[in-house]
Amino acid sequence: MFKKILIANRGEIALRIIRTCHEMGIRTVAVYSTADRDSLHVRFADEAVCIGPPPSRESYLNIPNIISAAEITGVDAIHPGYGFLSENADFSRICSEYKLKFIGPSPEVIEAMGDKATAKETMRRAGVPVVPGSDGVVASLAQARQIASDIGFPVIIKATAGGGGKGMRIIQSAADLDRLWDMARNEAMAAFGNDGMYIEKYIQRPRHIEIQVVGDQYGTVSHLSERDCSIQRRHQKLVEESPSPVVNQELREKMGEAAVQGAQSVNYEGAGTIEFLVDEDGSFYFMEMNTRIQVEHPVTEEIFFFDLIKEQIKVAAGEKVSGRRYYPNLHDRFAMEVRINAEDPYNDFRPSPGRITAFHKPGGHGVRVDTHAYQDYVITPYYDSMIGKLIVSAFSREEVIQKMERALDEFVIEGIKTTIPFHKKLMRDDRFRRGEFTTRFLEEFDFRN
Ligand code: ADP
Repeated sequence: MFKKILIANRGEIALRIIRTCHEMGIRTVAVYSTADRDSLHVRFADEAVCIGPPPSRESYLNIPNIISAAEITGVDAIHPGYGFLSENADFSRICSEYKLKFIGPSPEVIEAMGDKATAKETMRRAGVPVVPGSDGVVASLAQARQIASDIGFPVIIKATAGGGGKGMRIIQSAADLDRLWDMARNEAMAAFGNDGMYIEKYIQRPRHIEIQVVGDQYGTVSHLSERDCSIQRRHQKLVEESPSPVVNQELREKMGEAAVQGAQSVNYEGAGTIEFLVDEDGSFYFMEMNTRIQVEHPVTEEIFFFDLIKEQIKVAAGEKVSGRRYYPNLHDRFAMEVRINAEDPYNDFRPSPGRITAFHKPGGHGVRVDTHAYQDYVITPYYDSMIGKLIVSAFSREEVIQKMERALDEFVIEGIKTTIPFHKKLMRDDRFRRGEFTTRFLEEFDFRN
């Protein structure tokens, strides 16, 4: 087992990883930018190294500085968390050149799954259903027209290098396609340095349902059931839950099997997520794979009573996946996570940085808060606006929602605006409570009424 791990990240996920390392008797090294000097991950790690100024590309994305920090402190492994370098194949490759174990899949797998068109093609070949569309990147507008008319409008055009809800456009008609094709390519080039685009059928009212998988170094992949992440704003998740209100045992088994098959086909090592769209008739389609731990992993941890970060570290150290141990108490528990962002929901979710003047976390049975924030903590404008996650678990979805409402009422954050008022309103919505929603739910939901 590793003796010392460097966490190449910040915020709640850095703290989350440090906690598990300490429970496992592993020493920890935090890295931080000058903007994060007073962060909890810096305080709770055994050692901390400053890696640069506030902008991410000079600190949390600065590979030479992170590798130097790892060398100076003599760590044996690096945990990349999510975001930043977690899906950067070069970083994974450089880590292994320096004999540092990257806690995640191989550079080849990161590369293959990071390019969305390649990932889709790989999954299709492994027998996983994919959204109907182009075979890989589309060469020209003429070809795009042909494919779109074959599959029928509306279609969605996606940047193969896109992510985080960016680089996608819904196209309603042939005229739209002509008008927007070049614009979308130029935008993709500017945002991702790659103008490759592919096309798929736009599924009108889907649920976003993803399967958590873990693979070991011996070719075994197991899954830990699904998370429903259909509550999204501009393709970004705000609420996640498990089990999904629309997934029955039969569908769960089919999706789980498809996810395992897909991950196994690339010898997937580590924790990963296979994202699917599920249509109204229960058909499901592969959308993309995230080759890292995800923000919403605690939802799965709470229903299985299982530490996913610990499992990541164990498989990286060469242990076998716990496999069957994932299954026993399947779905006698329900869990839900809401993202607490420093954003003003009354003002188009505009970021709201600043000093937190009062901070009180909810507690009690079945309530978990993963956050790096505290009273007097200053949220800087440099990084993403998520300041924490509130996760509750109980024995039914109804109880989960009741508990969530209670916990949200207890949560006090003053000095900045947060998404708490939005979540309170959502929990009281009848359709949400009945579990009747698609990825487009928030387009129609006016929480101010
Ligand atoms: P990203 O990598 O940017 O998160 P994804 O491919 O995971 O992008 O898609 C994000 C969201 O966009 C999905 O959860 C879904 O709401 C929507 N979406 C993506 N593809 C389609 C599609 N073919 N039809 C309908 N909605 C889609």
